Amino acid sequence: MIQNLPVKTLKFKDLTIEGYSRAAVQTYWRFPELKIGFDLGGQPWSFMGTETWFVSHGHIDHIVCLPQYVSRRRMMKMEPPTIYLPESTIGPIQKILREFTRIDRGRMPCDLKPIRPGDEIELSREYVVTVSATRHGVPSLGFIVWNRRRKLKAEYLDLTGDQIRDLRLGGTEVTVEHRRPVLAYLGDSAPSGLDDCPMMYEADVLICELTFVAPSHRKEEIHKFGHIHLDDLVERRDRFQNELIIAAHLSTRYHSKVVRALVAKQIPDMLDGRLHLWL
Ligand SMILES: [Zn+2]
Ligand SMILES: [Zn+2]
Repeated sequence: MIQNLPVKTLKFKDLTIEGYSRAAVQTYWRFPELKIGFDLGGQPWSFMGTETWFVSHGHIDHIVCLPQYVSRRRMMKMEPPTIYLPESTIGPIQKILREFTRIDRGRMPCDLKPIRPGDEIELSREYVVTVSATRHGVPSLGFIVWNRRRKLKAEYLDLTGDQIRDLRLGGTEVTVEHRRPVLAYLGDSAPSGLDDCPMMYEADVLICELTFVAPSHRKEEIHKFGHIHLDDLVERRDRFQNELIIAAHLSTRYHSKVVRALVAKQIPDMLDGRLHLWL
């Protein structure tokens, strides 16, 4: 394997979480089983095979490797990827790709798709992604990945297989869709990005930004820039229903040891062991 960019990996049930995220440095996440990635602030060589990406916002540490990724896939003779981006970034990114084509003399084949809060994207029969607004210095989006299954409607549970088949053949819809949020990705946001999309608190896995942890960094200031402070997590500790909460995107002002110590002081039980610092 070519080692080129840091990638941390965590296995949670049947989901593999891979990525790296530090504020102002670079952010990228990939989920091989779901066949998607979030953000293109870096593009490890091993991530290239994933052909569907969602970009949360236009800050350079979340988007800068988009041209590199598109170009690599072309060079490796892979299908053009599909990249979902906030509407406002599409025009500028198309221009950037055209300019890169001029200087690199290589085509940049890709399908850039604009997305807005409220959109729903079908990944497959099993998975759907929904898009929510978050609060940051530029237009920004959060995402929830849902697992969907069709289940027999409650009123038909007592019927025999034959009866159900007859209903079905007679044109009756006997099943109803059930959705479970398996993964939520906040991207960069002030805490209202979570509060305004409460399902984020209920997804099996939540990837939450946590940029500031030191008491000297006041949270009111931080909210203006659209980020989360450790105090915000403490205030909301009873809201998190998630089985795993990953706190990422920590400021480079902090050494990992300092982050661990400050978090352990304020949340000694690490939310019953569910809180994982991505350091
Ligand atoms: Zn960021
Ligand atoms: Zn940002």
